[in-house]
Amino acid sequence: MNVIIVGAGISGLSTAWALTKQGVGVTLIEQGPIPNPMSASGDQHRIIRRAYGGQGGYQRRMGEAFAAWDRLWDDLGASHLAETGFLLLSQVEGDEGEQYRDGLAAGGYPFESMSPTQTADRYPFIDSDTIRFGAFSEEGGVLLCRKIASGLRDWLKAQGAAVMEHAMVTAVDAGEGAVTLANGDRLVADKVIITAGAWVLGLLPELSGTLTTYRTAVAYLTPPEDLRSAWEAGPVILDVGGTVDGYVLPPVAGTGLKVGAGIHKRKGPPDADRTAAPGEGEQIRNYFAPPFARITDYGIADVATCAYTFTPDEHFFLKDFGRLVAVSACSGHGYKFGAVVGRKLAEGVLSGNMETARIWLEARD
Ligand SMILES: Cc1cc2nc3c(=O)[nH]c(=O)nc-3n(C[C@H](O)[C@H](O)[C@H](O)COP(=O)(O)OP(=O)(O)OC[C@H]3O[C@@H](n4cnc5c(N)ncnc54)[C@H](O)[C@@H]3O)c2cc1C
Repeated sequence: MNVIIVGAGISGLSTAWALTKQGVGVTLIEQGPIPNPMSASGDQHRIIRRAYGGQGGYQRRMGEAFAAWDRLWDDLGASHLAETGFLLLSQVEGDEGEQYRDGLAAGGYPFESMSPTQTADRYPFIDSDTIRFGAFSEEGGVLLCRKIASGLRDWLKAQGAAVMEHAMVTAVDAGEGAVTLANGDRLVADKVIITAGAWVLGLLPELSGTLTTYRTAVAYLTPPEDLRSAWEAGPVILDVGGTVDGYVLPPVAGTGLKVGAGIHKRKGPPDADRTAAPGEGEQIRNYFAPPFARITDYGIADVATCAYTFTPDEHFFLKDFGRLVAVSACSGHGYKFGAVVGRKLAEGVLSGNMETARIWLEARD
C-alpha cells in the first residue's frame, strides 16, 4: 500500500510516522521546509494539558494522547516534552480558568487548589489582588515542536519514507487518488491524506462551509531580571482568567517566554498579513495585566504570526472522499493530540474504515 500525505505539520508528520511503522509506503509532501515556521506546528512550543472544560471528550482522550507521545519518544530516542505541569487562574466568576478547573473536578482528575496569596507566593509574577484562585495540575507541560518536527523528519528519512520539502501540491483528484505538484509532476497512491492546515481550502474549497481560517499572533517576552528564574521554573498557564482567553508558555529547554490570547485573531487566508503590525507585541503583552504585575517591565523579544483553521464548534474535522481524506485536527488546540491523531489516521487507512477515526477525532462522546 502507498499513501501520499500533503502537509508536514504535526498531523502529517505523525500520520507518516504511524503508517511507516506499519510498513506502508509513505510520500510526505511539504510546500516549505520541515519544520515550516509558517505552519501552525512550526512555532517553538505548544501546550499539552489534561483540562478541557466543556469539551470533556478531549479531556477523556488525553490518556491516549500522552501514551502516543511516549511511543513517539521511544522511536525518536528522546523525549521532547518538558513536564512543567499547568496552572489555571480565575479573575471573575465563571471565567475559563474556573471552567477548566471545574472540568477537572468533574472528571475526577487531581489538582491543587491555591488561594490568591498562595498562588502569588509560589509564582511571584502574579498580582494576588487580581485573582480569585489558582489551581495546579501535574498533567501537562510544553511540547517542543521544532525538535519534534526535525526528529520525525529525520526518522522518516532513515526508515526510507519519501520526504519532499519545498514541494507544493497545487491540485488533488479524489477519484484517482492523485496529486499534482507545482512543477507539473503527478503522483498517484492508494490513499491521499490532506493535512494542509490553514491551506486546506486552497485544495478543497468546498470545505469552506465548515472550516474557517484565521490569522493570529503570539508575543515572546523578556521578563524583568528579578523574575527570570521564577519564569524559568514556572508552569504552563493554560488560562489566565478574565475575558482574553490568555495562555502562557514558560521559557524551557532553550525556548522563549510566550504569551498568546484567543481574542487576538481575525479571519483571513493563510499567507496574508504575516508580518506583525507595529505595536502588536505590546498589545498582546498588555492583555496579561491583570493578572501579571509590572507588565510594562516586560520587553518584546519577538512577535510570531500564525494561521490556523477552526470548525464552528471547535471540534476536529475529518472527511473521507474515497481515495482522499481531509483532516483538520486544529481549532487552536490540536498539537497535543498530534501523535495519537497520526495513529488513528493510520488505523483508518489500514482498516479501510475512516469512520472510527472521525468519531475519535470529533470527540463528542
Ligand atoms: C497561536 C497558536 C497557539 C496554539 N496553541 C496550541 C497549544 O498550546 N496546544 C495545542 O495542542 N494546540 C495549539 N494550537 C493548535 C496547533 O498548533 C494545531 O492544531 C496544529 O499545529 C495543527 O497541525 P496541522 O499539521 O494540522 O497543521 P499545520 O501545522 O498548519 O501544517 C500544515 C502543513 O501543510 C503544509 N501545506 C499546506 N498546503 C500545502 C500544499 N498545497 N502542498 C504542500 N504542503 C502544504 C503547510 O506548509 C504546513 O506545513 C495553537 C495554534 C496556534 C495558531
